[in-house]
Amino acid sequence: MEFMREFPDDETCLRHVWRERFAPDGEHAFCQRCEVERTFKRYETAQKRPCWFCQTCGHRIHPLKGTIFEGSSTSLQLWFYAMYLITSTRCGVSAKQLERELGVTYKTAWRMFNKIRNQLMDESDAEPLSGEVEMDETFVGGKPRESYRREVARKGWNMQTAYWDRKAVVFAAVERGGRIRASVVPDSRGPTLHAKINEYVLPATMVYTDDFHAYKQLGKKGYQHKRINHSARIYVQGDVHTQTIEGFFGLFKNGVRGSYHAVSKKWLQGYLNEYTWRYNRRDSDRSMFHDLLEEAVRD
Ligand SMILES: [Zn+2]
Repeated sequence: MEFMREFPDDETCLRHVWRERFAPDGEHAFCQRCEVERTFKRYETAQKRPCWFCQTCGHRIHPLKGTIFEGSSTSLQLWFYAMYLITSTRCGVSAKQLERELGVTYKTAWRMFNKIRNQLMDESDAEPLSGEVEMDETFVGGKPRESYRREVARKGWNMQTAYWDRKAVVFAAVERGGRIRASVVPDSRGPTLHAKINEYVLPATMVYTDDFHAYKQLGKKGYQHKRINHSARIYVQGDVHTQTIEGFFGLFKNGVRGSYHAVSKKWLQGYLNEYTWRYNRRDSDRSMFHDLLEEAVRD
């Protein structure tokens, strides 16, 4: 109901995008051809094309151009509603739920989901982390399906290796009491993880890891580094622990397990985006829906 009051129809959604991107007052926008601010009018035809035109020179502006909504056959209001649903429950919705709620096909719901997660919720250009930062890597991917197990057996592959190949590695770093950054990485070798650490964490930051060999050199690479000896079954030693990041991994893996879809690596990054996006806004007073909407109209 709250959503319907704000965005009762497609036209309202379109006008929202128009105002946010081009004309704050709904009427005046910068005309590229006149090279000054002009009065624009809604293009009023039977087809109601999603554009405005300059009253002086006729130049047209298509407010959806360059957004994830451009060229979509799904109505703008459904897009907005999908974003609303995804952000208004605490643990998100599945593509199956989206399909039901929106009355679209599963394929469409799936495509919308991927665009929202991979483009709007992508925070890969966020500021690096600092302060006290925990980091860790984990393997994600459930039991392989029966069909895959049969294929492995038929081809005589090593069962153990074949299973591990299908698992994805996720690396994440989190500020204690702050933000998180995470991504699917090709493997868990030292150079791969170090490249991510450089990207995610400011030099001289206090970092906490377990005793995995890939983290050994961090002290020499300009970080302050404390390690917890997980292989000796020690998990907390004063302030030395990685409980924050493990908590996040726990939630994330639960979500993956409960989802309907098989874990592909591209899908997994999108799903990870959604989890980190949510995590980074957990204490914010602003509605996640409006945050996401802002992302959708950003140039
Ligand atoms: Zn003009």
